[in-house]
Amino acid sequence: MRVIFIGPPGAGKGTQAAKVVERWGVAHISTGDILRANVKKGTPLGLKAKEYMNAGQLVPDEVIIAMMKDRLREADCADGFILDGFPRTVPQAEALDALMKELQLDLDSALLFQVDDDTVVERLSGRRVCRKCGAIYHATFHPTAVEGVCDVCGGEIYQREDDRESVIRQRLAVYHEQTAPLIDYYRGQSRLLEVDAAGSSDSVLAVLESTLGA
Ligand code: AMP
Repeated sequence: MRVIFIGPPGAGKGTQAAKVVERWGVAHISTGDILRANVKKGTPLGLKAKEYMNAGQLVPDEVIIAMMKDRLREADCADGFILDGFPRTVPQAEALDALMKELQLDLDSALLFQVDDDTVVERLSGRRVCRKCGAIYHATFHPTAVEGVCDVCGGEIYQREDDRESVIRQRLAVYHEQTAPLIDYYRGQSRLLEVDAAGSSDSVLAVLESTLGA
């Protein structure tokens, strides 16, 4: 299985990717997670990416493409992958096509998570994350038992810098302008699948199961 997840921030791509990984054992590659890990460690990549991320802007294509060229050659990708948050621009999609050709691999599908902007703002402005284990909570809909403390590992709960409302609006604008053109790009390749991501559901697993026969 080689599938791309496309959708605005807060559409649930990461949550659904975790379920797909559990079910099919493929690699989950989240460019946002890789970048955040680099920011945390203070690597040259992290230093380059940090300002863009905190401002809700995309990290430049050449940085992301170089990072993904390395990542997709790693051994755990041999049995398939979910790309969560990549590609996010048409040049990134073209670079991915070129890389797939070079590696003699084929993408199965691009799965579009459909959700409206107001739902995204409500979800993301309340999102809280554990600094230690990455568990995800919501200040209103799924709070921790003890405020500020992770239920799973006792780690510290924080709000991502880019989950503030002004930055969320900026990220949505970037999505509509730079990432939404990928919908036509993959529709043109007959690879586009669509799923309603407004509610919580298992429709992603069902769609993948029925189309890929996985
Ligand atoms: P995410 O966790 O997927 O919402 O990503 C967080 C931030 O990382 C984004 O707002 C961008 O600044 C950056 N980022 C993640 N993936 C990409 C990408 N494919 N291209 C450019 N920037 C990215």
